[in-house]
Amino acid sequence: PQDRVFNFAAGPATLPENVLLKAQSDLYNWHGSGMSVMEMSHRGRDFRSIIEKAEVDLRTLLNIPENYAVLFLQGGATTQFAAIPLNLCRPDDTVDYLVTGSWGDKAFKEAQKYCKPKVIWSGKSEKYVSVPLCDGLEQSANAKYLHLCANETIYGVEFKDYPVPSNPSGVLVADMSSNFCSKPVDVTEFGLIYAGAQKNVGPAGVCIVIVRKDLLGNAQELTPVMLDYKIHAENNSLYNTPPCFGIYMCGLVFEDLLKQGGLEEVEKKNKKKAGILYNAIDESTGFYKCPVEKSVRSLMNVPFTLEKSELEAEFLREAAKEKMVELKGHRSVGGIRASIYNAMPLDGVDKLVAFMKDFQSRHA
Ligand code: PMP
Repeated sequence: PQDRVFNFAAGPATLPENVLLKAQSDLYNWHGSGMSVMEMSHRGRDFRSIIEKAEVDLRTLLNIPENYAVLFLQGGATTQFAAIPLNLCRPDDTVDYLVTGSWGDKAFKEAQKYCKPKVIWSGKSEKYVSVPLCDGLEQSANAKYLHLCANETIYGVEFKDYPVPSNPSGVLVADMSSNFCSKPVDVTEFGLIYAGAQKNVGPAGVCIVIVRKDLLGNAQELTPVMLDYKIHAENNSLYNTPPCFGIYMCGLVFEDLLKQGGLEEVEKKNKKKAGILYNAIDESTGFYKCPVEKSVRSLMNVPFTLEKSELEAEFLREAAKEKMVELKGHRSVGGIRASIYNAMPLDGVDKLVAFMKDFQSRHA
């Protein structure tokens, strides 16, 4: 519909139009139940069918094996920064963190309260434009886990493959908040994957955790019940009232991703969109610049600056006039950032690139 904008926000972010329309038509009276999903008991048959289908569809999308639990939780990815060390290690245990941006850094800082985390690689001095090579990392011998942020939302740096923990009993843990379900992932490489929903798969308020079942049941004694993965796994995410409506929305998105042909197809579309945008930046003869190393540029968040930085405000103003909004870079780094998650249509990227070329021709 013509009253919608192209929303390049980093999250909460644009959702698929067909999902919004489906939610709208279901809103008043879900499947003849006489009520909306927001009004249903989370223990009733209707809501159970919704959460079970959401889980089944997510398992199909990511090919999640039976020995992994899928949890729909609250508190955002930030809560997982604490839940992960609380569940996976003792206070004296060493764990390793790769810091490729501010989210990895926040995860590391939170873990300091609950165990002995160590930063074994940081991109900070280079302003977070790369990720470490998977081979040759100096990992701690007894690290219970190795944590990384698969896609740093602010800096636009994305792992394309993943290191293997050198401790045979250690596991890889990944924050996939901003590239969850944007491409196929081999879940078996990870002990735990977590993702806030509000970028690629739903509204804010749901955080998805995928965790290998043998890691459950060792939470530190003081772990709040709401942060204990075992409790949530045993209760199929229904220990207490879950974020029902958000889970329902995630379910609609999963259904839509399956209808598109699954994550291989989704990745193809994402590569195409990102390719068009990065090419436009790289071919602007320096008018636009993306600082990120080419091999690890994010398919989801595309940060760039204008050589004439005094033009950035004008760029944002004119873009908004043409119904392309939320292009301002994160307040900590400035510049421009176009987030082009799954639900950003190719038309949105084409329109942005056409605008960028026109803007350059008028201001070069
Ligand atoms: N990790 C990443 C990669 C993120 O992008 C964000 C949110 N922007 C967070 C963690 C924090 O998520 P939340 O706000 O859901 O706690």
